[in-house]
Amino acid sequence: MSDHNPECLFCKILAGEIPADIIYESDSAIAFRDINPQAPTHALVIPRKHIATINDIDVADQAIVGSLFSAAREIAAAEGLEDDGYRAVMNCNEAAGQTVFHIHLHLLGGRALAWPPG
Ligand code: AMP
Ligand code: ZN
Repeated sequence: MSDHNPECLFCKILAGEIPADIIYESDSAIAFRDINPQAPTHALVIPRKHIATINDIDVADQAIVGSLFSAAREIAAAEGLEDDGYRAVMNCNEAAGQTVFHIHLHLLGGRALAWPPG
């Protein structure tokens, strides 16, 4: 694990210090079910590397960030969402509603999703 931040909730989940319902693991990312799900499937895909916001993504992180989408696709298939559709979205900073400052792709599916979001 690289760039572990001991103050970060999601780094604590990565370290096994806080329990989570982990549904996917790879060398660069893990995913777990959101504790307050907003859809029948609501998973959070996070990099093992601590990156606080989209603004902190470095050019060197491109493969890591790409792996989040590969993970989302794999989880969506496993959850049977591929054909009906799903949403993969990342909030950046307060105005977008980011509350945990370790980037995470929300994977939402299993119901019709309105657009645009609030
Ligand atoms: P965001 O508002 O985009 O930063 O999303 C943070 C998400 O993390 C929210 O959907 C929360 O419900 C979720 N969350 C917070 N704490 C936990 C936890 N311990 N385990 C799983 N999900 C969590
Ligand atoms: Zn972190």
